[in-house]
Amino acid sequence: MKELVEAICKQGVGVGTDVVKVDMFLNHRLDTALYVKMGQAFADAFLEYQPEIVLTVEASGIAAAITTAMACGNIPVVFAKKSPTRNVTGDVYESRVYSFTHGVENHIRVDKEYLPKGAKVLVVDDFLANGEAAEGLCDLVNQSGGEVIGVGICVEKSFQPGRQKLQDLGYRVISLAKITGIVDGKLQVKE
Ligand code: 5GP
Repeated sequence: MKELVEAICKQGVGVGTDVVKVDMFLNHRLDTALYVKMGQAFADAFLEYQPEIVLTVEASGIAAAITTAMACGNIPVVFAKKSPTRNVTGDVYESRVYSFTHGVENHIRVDKEYLPKGAKVLVVDDFLANGEAAEGLCDLVNQSGGEVIGVGICVEKSFQPGRQKLQDLGYRVISLAKITGIVDGKLQVKE
């Protein structure tokens, strides 16, 4: 997506050889106009598969999930939680996810009530690196007896193996921008 690529080129920073910092518009300060466009782009790509729920993981996937769900006709967003809270009661679907950015293992969970059996679910997240978060979200859907109709990613780091992993598992993956590498702190980006 042209606007996202431009924002990355203008405001994104590479940290080391594999971390992309886009806090100015995607992860800390949120460019709402850009988020609306990204949501529309995911809807354009996946509406033909008739998604009924958009599933993401807290916290950085929520903004894209909301604009996507709105563009898909105001369907619900469900976000997996990373830590047990008193708000999540009853039975949960749970999956283990290794966090690329924090270097720790998280358990992500969703109350069973919010992922009904047979639902068509679109998984959305801000980044794709090793594919752990997206795979964990797809696992939650599979546990529920739902169907993953696709995985929508704002920024894919195509030098990492996430896409291959998801595609090998049979998932349809669409990303809106690809970072092909980081050289001397500079991001190499393509649509
Ligand atoms: P994966 O599970 O595919 O290894 O990593 C994806 C998750 O880690 C995303 O939910 C995202 O929040 C975070 N992440 C991975 N790589 C980056 C990165 O380079 N920059 C940022 N901001 N987040 C990342």
